Amino acid sequence: VVAAVSLLAVTAAPYICYLLLYAWIRPQGSPADKEPAEPTVSIVLPTYNEEQIVETKLEDVLDLDYPMEKIELVVVDSSTDDTRTIIREYIADLEAPELVLLEEDERRGLAPALNDAYAAVSNEMVVKTDCDSKLAPDALREAAANLADDEIAAVTGQNVEVLGGSEVESGYRGVQSHIQQLESHLDSTLIFHGPFSAFENDALLPIDPNSLADDTELALKIRRQGKRVIFDPSVRYMEASHSEFVKRRKQKDRRGMGLIRLLVQHSDALGKYGQYGRVILPFNWWFMIASPWLLAATLVVGTGGAISLLGVSGLLFPAGVGLFTYLGQRDLLGPVQMLYSIFDTQVSLLR
Ligand code: GDP
Repeated sequence: VVAAVSLLAVTAAPYICYLLLYAWIRPQGSPADKEPAEPTVSIVLPTYNEEQIVETKLEDVLDLDYPMEKIELVVVDSSTDDTRTIIREYIADLEAPELVLLEEDERRGLAPALNDAYAAVSNEMVVKTDCDSKLAPDALREAAANLADDEIAAVTGQNVEVLGGSEVESGYRGVQSHIQQLESHLDSTLIFHGPFSAFENDALLPIDPNSLADDTELALKIRRQGKRVIFDPSVRYMEASHSEFVKRRKQKDRRGMGLIRLLVQHSDALGKYGQYGRVILPFNWWFMIASPWLLAATLVVGTGGAISLLGVSGLLFPAGVGLFTYLGQRDLLGPVQMLYSIFDTQVSLLR
């Protein structure tokens, strides 16, 4: 029991540190000195077989409150369906935005496609978005206002509502948004979101062609070059969540695996780059890599302790933890699968 309580204390310590920092700093909104700005914008849109939804995405771009003549749309497409024809015909009828269509002969994966798109952009602010998301009309203006601050070279935004998502998801995103605001006020945030990431063109760098966390990797590399990369809740978007549980899980597993790999690849940044390497990267290491093992160990050691004290009734301890998780999350399979996929990723990385 003593061992379990100690393990729990070790597991909880970084979260308590973050809570104390949060109470002390009380971060609100963006840490940037925001100023109204209207730079030229390249919107980067990777597409793979999106003929069902791509037109809605183009409408989403046209609905943005921004002068369309200041926008170029850079599509990098590896589809085998009619996606690129739909895009070409849709834009052909318009005076603006200008279309740059990069046609891939075969699907090479998202990261190489994005590297090509980033090499092709010509405008001052580069916004990467996904087909299955909807941007708030003022998203570009809010992002541009952040990038007007010389210290800041990248900004990501807040998922305000998950299209087709669950309550658990929105609760989790609420916590994540507070964490990312705190990190941004301390220095920079780690995680960048696929549906909306904005970068200064000058700051762009190639990403690892095998990356599974492309936006986050780019932001991390930009931070390592010296400029801050932040989260601003006023930059808003909505992301479609896969309606099928299995697809949703796979998407999350891929993101989780991408983040873990990235943290390991950039472990030499720990302790460097101000609070980013001293506080933010260690916390994310803790959150993504250490705490799942510590939680599992706490459960095993706690169950052992409870059984040795109470006999068979000691099994009430893991049952209680399960019930607590279920009541908190309205889901037991999700957390268990998440833990499993984190362990699986780490073991395969070690191999
Ligand atoms: P997720 O949101 O992380 O699950 O990633 P998605 O699979 O939804 O893809 C994000 C965006 O990239 C979507 O607009 C896809 O159409 C596009 N996409 C996915 N894979 C590829 C690819 O291999 N090549 C290109 N060019 N686009 C891709």
